[in-house]
Amino acid sequence: MTVYAHPELNLTDPGKGYAHFVLYTEPRLNVAGAAWNATINIELDSPYVQEWVDRLQRCEPNALHTTFVMNREIPRLFHPCVDEDKTSPAANGGNCHCFRTWTDPEYGLPVVGRHSRSAGQDRWIYMTYAPLALRPDDVVYSVVADRGDVFWARTTGGVLAVLPMLESSGYGAGPRSGTGGASTFGAYLQQLVDSEGRDTAAKGRDTSSRQLVNWVRSDAAHRQELVLRDLAATFPGFSPDTSPSAETPAQ
Ligand SMILES: [Zn+2]
Repeated sequence: MTVYAHPELNLTDPGKGYAHFVLYTEPRLNVAGAAWNATINIELDSPYVQEWVDRLQRCEPNALHTTFVMNREIPRLFHPCVDEDKTSPAANGGNCHCFRTWTDPEYGLPVVGRHSRSAGQDRWIYMTYAPLALRPDDVVYSVVADRGDVFWARTTGGVLAVLPMLESSGYGAGPRSGTGGASTFGAYLQQLVDSEGRDTAAKGRDTSSRQLVNWVRSDAAHRQELVLRDLAATFPGFSPDTSPSAETPAQ
């Protein structure tokens, strides 16, 4: 899918100082959200999540942050955390149900954190959008299927990014994943291997290789960081040398 690659739309490069974002709305239901970018909910506690959270820049809530919450919750985006103001409407004794808003400085995407503190236990859920592609000069070094739940890319420059994904085509990896998500993730991995990490635009394609889908649904696909160079060497389905056997369609 290349519909969004309009030359006048800057969708992925915050280095320019601005980026466009395409919204989707259903007026009869009073909802608005992303047209193309996949919505990502992150509740994992992992080194990758920690690395990403640590670089986020706190900011005032803006129109993009409102797309992650229900309409009646929009005013609550502006309420401080109990740790910042014990009289906040979000505070209830020592408990808290607040939101916090950030921007990811590397990819310019909005992030909303939903904080719950109850009986001294803190819980954070982060909501953001996957980019449609990485920045123009980014080259992918490796891909991480973080416990088969959150998908990341690491660039050759060492920058961690939420893996480009389309709203309509989510990824899956590991034994618990369905064939649809595994097929889309497999096709995206193949695209990265074929382009040596340079073609990062999410196209929402599925692979026709059953062998590839089976590999993505095995333990191998979500245990570790998948280095593109190693994938090409170790699994024939990923070989950029497209022999006919690598392209055999599923039965
Ligand atoms: Zn709070």
